Amino acid sequence: MIKKEKRYIYDGIKAEYKDAEIVICGVPYDGTCSNKPGTRFGPNELRKEIYGLETYSPYQDKDLKEFSFCDMGDLELPIGNSEHVVSTIFEDYQTILEDKKRIITIGGEHLITYPIVKAYLKEYEDLYVIHYDAHTDLRDEFFGEKLSHANVIKLIYDEMKEGKIYQFGIRSGTKEEFEFGKTHTNLHFNTLDGLSHIIKDIGKHPIYVTIDLDVLDPSVFPGTGTPEPGGVSFNDLIESLLLLKGLNIVGADIVELSPHYDASGVSNVVAAKVLREVSLLMGVKV
Ligand code: MN
Ligand code: MN
Repeated sequence: MIKKEKRYIYDGIKAEYKDAEIVICGVPYDGTCSNKPGTRFGPNELRKEIYGLETYSPYQDKDLKEFSFCDMGDLELPIGNSEHVVSTIFEDYQTILEDKKRIITIGGEHLITYPIVKAYLKEYEDLYVIHYDAHTDLRDEFFGEKLSHANVIKLIYDEMKEGKIYQFGIRSGTKEEFEFGKTHTNLHFNTLDGLSHIIKDIGKHPIYVTIDLDVLDPSVFPGTGTPEPGGVSFNDLIESLLLLKGLNIVGADIVELSPHYDASGVSNVVAAKVLREVSLLMGVKV
């Protein structure tokens, strides 16, 4: 069970849990990584980077200091058993959502999004999911496993109604996954274009944004276990995220940062800046 208290303090992120509108939570799990593991180190390396980050965003003309954020640290997860991990995340997130918090999750591998969205669906029946990724993540199973970061969007699809998942930047997967995506999940191949049209349909409905950072080109973001050449630039991703300004984003995650594959440390900076922009998109005046 997660401790509901402030665990880390930075400039701009220092509210007590009870006062915070938005909470940041780390989920350091990488048990099903198909290629190279290491995302369990994501939350802590990203936090180190936040200390050096400007709290002001010139992209949005907003400052983290204007809002009430609380970093409640990492979930305590069992070792090894992915079913147990998934049920622990689901239960912990349910209790945070019962407190009417909006949550920004820092991963961790992408599988963690499945129990998180499942918990959100209990609270927000008409939830929409916007998914940035290089990969379809629509497999039914991967190496015989139903619970895998390669299946996460399919697992979420199975929990949701048709037509509420939108995928962007996708450039890798099986033929079957791409075919499934075209008819069931509004899959956008190799581009972030198309989001502006969708926004009108979504209106004020609650939105969950899941950002698998490997959507970025490996030249921008090499710090990940499954790099895919041909990705988008940092500016492309930020511009796309800014289209969501003013919408009802109730939750978001930033996953698949695997810090040790980038000796320069630039990937951590990229992840931290994405975190700042997403946090400010979700910010509400206190
Ligand atoms: Mn991916
Ligand atoms: Mn993914």
